[in-house]
Amino acid sequence: MILTDTHSHLYSEAFDEDRDAMINRALDLGVQRFFIPAIDSTYANRMYDLEKNYPQNIYLMMGLHPTHVKENYEEELRFVEKQFSERAFFGVGEIGIDLYWDKTFLKQQQDAFVRQIQLAKNHGLPIVIHCREAFDEIFEILDQEKGSDLYGIFHCFTGTHKQALQAIEYNMKLGIGGVVTFKNGKIDQFLNKIDLNNIVLETDAPYLSPTPYRGKRNESAYLIKVVEKLASIYNLSEEEIAKITTENSKKVFGV
Ligand SMILES: [Zn+2]
Repeated sequence: MILTDTHSHLYSEAFDEDRDAMINRALDLGVQRFFIPAIDSTYANRMYDLEKNYPQNIYLMMGLHPTHVKENYEEELRFVEKQFSERAFFGVGEIGIDLYWDKTFLKQQQDAFVRQIQLAKNHGLPIVIHCREAFDEIFEILDQEKGSDLYGIFHCFTGTHKQALQAIEYNMKLGIGGVVTFKNGKIDQFLNKIDLNNIVLETDAPYLSPTPYRGKRNESAYLIKVVEKLASIYNLSEEEIAKITTENSKKVFGV
């Protein structure tokens, strides 16, 4: 069984004490492909180190996270563009709009999102969307930018059935993680109506641990809990869930 964690912050400070042990726990369970979203320039060297240590398993993205769009966002975007001019990445992410923490920089968040979508199109890469309390704002931009050159993943999808179908319309796969195991997570109630070909797996480690680890540090090995839940929702074996979702991740990232 080969599992793909399409969204994991393995470079996070949360893993500084036991990163290798944590990655090995995941590898032992078959989680062998890790797609790593960026946050901002301060994490870039940590990401490159991770790639150096696990060249067979780590696939890096680059981008500016919406909660890190601040006064200096032009400078941060220039940093992102510079990275793309110097080396290859597998996606532009994570990018999007987050109105949960702070609405101060909405305009800048929208601008950064649009410009990073352009970057993805120019490089023929997928985008990985972070959306928190911002479905309307995100869909407005996707509607302007839609087309065969726009595709990717709606990371940590927590919307309604209708919003799920809308995201899929825009060539997005749904990133499903720990939330699907929550009692009040809601997405488990309609997911069986969504074709499994539109689903990829993710942890968002160190955040959003699945049940029974909810509230604790998340790690990629816990992806197995998401697989268990999806196996019961789709009435398929865990092996089939692994196979189909890994295939889906290959379609998105081209690797
Ligand atoms: Zn993330």
